Amino acid sequence: MRIGQTGEFSLIEEIRKKMEGRYSPRVSLGIGDDCAVLVPEEGKELIVSTDTFVEKIHFDLAWFSFYQIGWRAMAAALSDIAAMGGAPLGALLGCSVSVERDKEEVIDLVRGVRDLGLLYDCPLVGGDLTRSPGELFVNVTVLGEVDRGKALCRAGAEEGDEVWVTGFLGASHAGLKTLLRSSAVSREAVRDRTDRYLQPTPRIREACFLANLVSINSMIDLSDGLSSDLGHICSCSGLGALIFSSSLPISPETKEVARSLREDSLDYALNGGEDFELCFTAGEGRIDPWVDRFREAFGLSLTRVGRMVRDEGLILIDSQGRKKDIQPRGFDHFLPV
Ligand code: ADP
Ligand code: MG
Repeated sequence: MRIGQTGEFSLIEEIRKKMEGRYSPRVSLGIGDDCAVLVPEEGKELIVSTDTFVEKIHFDLAWFSFYQIGWRAMAAALSDIAAMGGAPLGALLGCSVSVERDKEEVIDLVRGVRDLGLLYDCPLVGGDLTRSPGELFVNVTVLGEVDRGKALCRAGAEEGDEVWVTGFLGASHAGLKTLLRSSAVSREAVRDRTDRYLQPTPRIREACFLANLVSINSMIDLSDGLSSDLGHICSCSGLGALIFSSSLPISPETKEVARSLREDSLDYALNGGEDFELCFTAGEGRIDPWVDRFREAFGLSLTRVGRMVRDEGLILIDSQGRKKDIQPRGFDHFLPV
């Protein structure tokens, strides 16, 4: 049924039912009142972040199901909680949608938000619904907590720190490129290549593991691309960074996509957005002892990709030791593509 026929309040009631019985004692009041009431742990600080996901800017309805749109919006928001080394508490979903949309589409979107949230103890506790004149707008605000004074910030990197990343770089961009050139029928066949783009998982547990066991000096999630995001660590820490091009973790699938388009997979790894991996810095030798345990625990690699240096800017070093300045070329909403 069209939303224009069901109305706002019956839709909210359906959303509320989707969360019934799903709250832990940390939510004393969920969807249905003017505010949700959450119970933060003693001795913790609250962290909060928001992310907006706009049709035709961030996603195309030809590729994303409504479920995946909800999932993806929640993933981006949770990735920011991960980047601070935090644990999620709850999320709010703002959604602006045309009255011509089917109610079930919105419910599917809510299911995507809910399901990913529940995987990471981040229940949907509220939100807002408004009419949109056209495109779909989705906003997810997440609340989380960290031990007092223990949030992992962009500032804090030290000269000589090693730069590490989780997982593969450029995989999400390769997924996008794959979708751009695939027909509707062949999309199912390329699912393994497009998952990191369409339905990413945030690195919440991985970040908690690292934050608890190792002394990390700075951390960010890779939402815009390594060149931009490591650039933020650099500018916030008043340092520069060297990136070793031959050590960037690029999956065989990503290399294959780039090769078939006669593009450089290095460019995907440096500037491709939405990988939602973590990039962090730590003192020399601090991370090495944990690489195997990390892989066993999460099935994910940790790769040293660079080093923090005194001189400002980002410098790429190729396998022959040649140096090249690199500019942050990750996604920027307000610059021409
Ligand atoms: P108010 O007018 O007081 O802001 P609303 O009528 O917008 O309240 O919302 C009623 C309840 O439904 C609130 O608890 C709100 O958080 C929840 N809610 C509204 N929209 C959503 C949504 N998209 N997802 C989850 N909860 C929602
Ligand atoms: Mg409202």
